[in-house]
Amino acid sequence: MSSSNNQGLNERLAHKKRVQRIKTGIILFVITWMLVSMLISVTLIVKVFSLQKQIDILTENTIKSQQVEQQENEAAGPGELEKYDSAGQGSVADDASEKALQTEGKASDAADAAVKTEDMKVYLTFDDGPSANTERILDILDSYNIKATFFVVGKEDEKSLERYQQIVERGHTLGMHSYSHKYNLVYESLDSFKEDLNKIQSLLKETTGEECRLYRFPGGSSNQVSNTDMSEFIRYLNEAGITYYDWNVECGDATDHAYTADEMVENVMNDVVKHSTSVVLMHDAEDKPNTVEALPLIIEKLQGLGAQILPIDENAAVIQHVSADSVEE
Ligand code: ZN
Repeated sequence: MSSSNNQGLNERLAHKKRVQRIKTGIILFVITWMLVSMLISVTLIVKVFSLQKQIDILTENTIKSQQVEQQENEAAGPGELEKYDSAGQGSVADDASEKALQTEGKASDAADAAVKTEDMKVYLTFDDGPSANTERILDILDSYNIKATFFVVGKEDEKSLERYQQIVERGHTLGMHSYSHKYNLVYESLDSFKEDLNKIQSLLKETTGEECRLYRFPGGSSNQVSNTDMSEFIRYLNEAGITYYDWNVECGDATDHAYTADEMVENVMNDVVKHSTSVVLMHDAEDKPNTVEALPLIIEKLQGLGAQILPIDENAAVIQHVSADSVEE
């Protein structure tokens, strides 16, 4: 009796223990499951926060770069254009600004590439002469065996006539820059433009024997001072077979800012590296002695780069702010 009682007791105990083990197992499983879930949740939350942070940083950078781009565009856009327009620069100046807008790395790469090439052509051009500085300019050019281009205006005193001849005899290119160089007269109408052009062309023909077919508009083809639409004059030059040249590099002697000779050298050298063909605007005028002082330094620096310094001829790439082709016949 007692042994069967004991057996029953043992079986109940064993059953109780099994139930207990199963309970413990279930509790352990639930706790483990909860811990793992919590761990996964925490990891996911941390991950979400770090991603959000990255998104914020990226968004901020994008906004910043857009703002910078906008500011640069504004600075180099209408404002810059106006500045150039007042000096007579338009689309080419625009190109230059655009190039300057490229990322720093790209720009310096491009500059390096330009500096390395020995195909770089530079055309030095002197406007508004002849003047008391013409001889000095010619002597400097001779001493480096360099030919340049002179866009001259109408002057009929003996000295000036001699200077026109000197320009031609010493192998430079002679171009016209209007007879009067008075904007209101030259650009008053197509008739006044024609009259002025004939006057300077005849004077140069009589003096040098050369039929001049090269022109530079006073203020450039994109000037904002003409009362008449510039395309009328461009159309006339096209018909007459006269090529006009603007410029894409300035030494700075046309601006109100009185640049020193060294600054002019810097102005030129900073810009010539941006172009395979550079037409440099300089002036042959009595009140611009710094230009004469800068000339030998500019020539030496250009030669140091291996650039070819040439006079404008029929092989020269045409540099125009308003393209002659853009005007219909
Ligand atoms: Zn001029």
